[in-house]
Amino acid sequence: MVQTAGFGKCKKVPESEIRHVWEEVRVPLEGRSYDILIGPGLLLDAVRYFEKIKPFTGPFIVTDSNVEDYIGHDLMTIFRQGGYDGARLLSFPAGEQSKNMGTLVELARSLVGLGADRSSLLVALGGGVTGDICGFLASIYMRGVDFVQIPTTLLAQVDSSVGGKTGVDLPEGKNLLGTFAQPRLVLADIGVLCTLPASEIRNGIAEIIKYGMIKDAGLFQRLEQEWWDVVNLEPYITAYLVKRSCQIKAEVVSKDEREGGYRRILNFGHTIGHAVEAASDYKISHGAAVAMGMVAVARISVARGLLSPEELDRLVALLKRFDLPVSIPESIPASVIVENMKRDKKVKDGKVHFILAKGIGDTVIVNDVTDQEILSAIS
Ligand code: NAD
Repeated sequence: MVQTAGFGKCKKVPESEIRHVWEEVRVPLEGRSYDILIGPGLLLDAVRYFEKIKPFTGPFIVTDSNVEDYIGHDLMTIFRQGGYDGARLLSFPAGEQSKNMGTLVELARSLVGLGADRSSLLVALGGGVTGDICGFLASIYMRGVDFVQIPTTLLAQVDSSVGGKTGVDLPEGKNLLGTFAQPRLVLADIGVLCTLPASEIRNGIAEIIKYGMIKDAGLFQRLEQEWWDVVNLEPYITAYLVKRSCQIKAEVVSKDEREGGYRRILNFGHTIGHAVEAASDYKISHGAAVAMGMVAVARISVARGLLSPEELDRLVALLKRFDLPVSIPESIPASVIVENMKRDKKVKDGKVHFILAKGIGDTVIVNDVTDQEILSAIS
């Protein structure tokens, strides 16, 4: 029996419950609707789920150099044993530094070399970097082919594999080239998360805390109460967290697919977070930067009477529980953060939109936060 990476290392899943879909979330987008299937060991039955997408040639699995070793070759064996002789594996060096047009063009040329055509199916097997590159590639290869997301980081399972944003970075900034393109299916096998380093688990948890802050006080409370199981990726709570996060993202995206307004609430903590990431030359991880950003906007929310000081304390305590930072390092000047924020591609008509917390579980979007308010929140 071929096993997926992490499979077997994950705790407390009775044999009888492996390979079952534990949770299912529909992303309703008219002609582009798709399902997110969540459970342990789902990749072992990948062929079964791909049958529903047929006919296609391939599949052409795009992955990074780490995931290639952890899961890629096993998944290839699963496809080959399942009768997909045309399955091929393409990989690129792991890391954000690969998320650029150079990698995209190399992958596209490899696809041509391997005979991929307009009926080919691409599979993004990996974290958010792989999902963003492969989704972008699928959306422009021969004017667009179908793709499936198989997210393998917690961040990708709760966030980046859902919602259809794809893209690559430019030297001038992150995600400056890209498209909106929805996958045909998202297969979130929680078993593969077991090989993730703690820092990557933290990145995902920061986004889950964000979902609690913007939409679900009950989710926030479960993170507070069951933090030990969350940190240890206990399977049942992990499946619940992936489901709830995807449900929230699906609900928001289905109302505002192309970020005309409402979808901005998903950027809670990200406006300042992105500015911190850039100011640190991306040495501060995304999750850590978002954690700092969430505390800063929560402080602005308290100053405006939208959030109580007790609720701010709960957010700070929760982030600390997960070893996430709650203040911006002194080495990064507050003025640089404010400058970076104004250069963000999401700035509209010179105005920075802020998502403020209205209690835990609700938000309000404003565009009148002053530099002074920001400076006092981050200093
Ligand atoms: P990543 O894809 O670089 O993965 C992080 C690291 O984990 C990599 O080294 C990878 O090789 C490794 N890895 C992946 N799966 C593993 C596994 N199962 N076991 C062990 N190691 C594994 O980074 P990420 O944090 O997943 O994603 C970040 C990217 O996602 C950024 O580029 C960000 O811009 C993008 N993003 C996109 C969206 C969106 O909506 N499209 C949303 C959020 C973030």
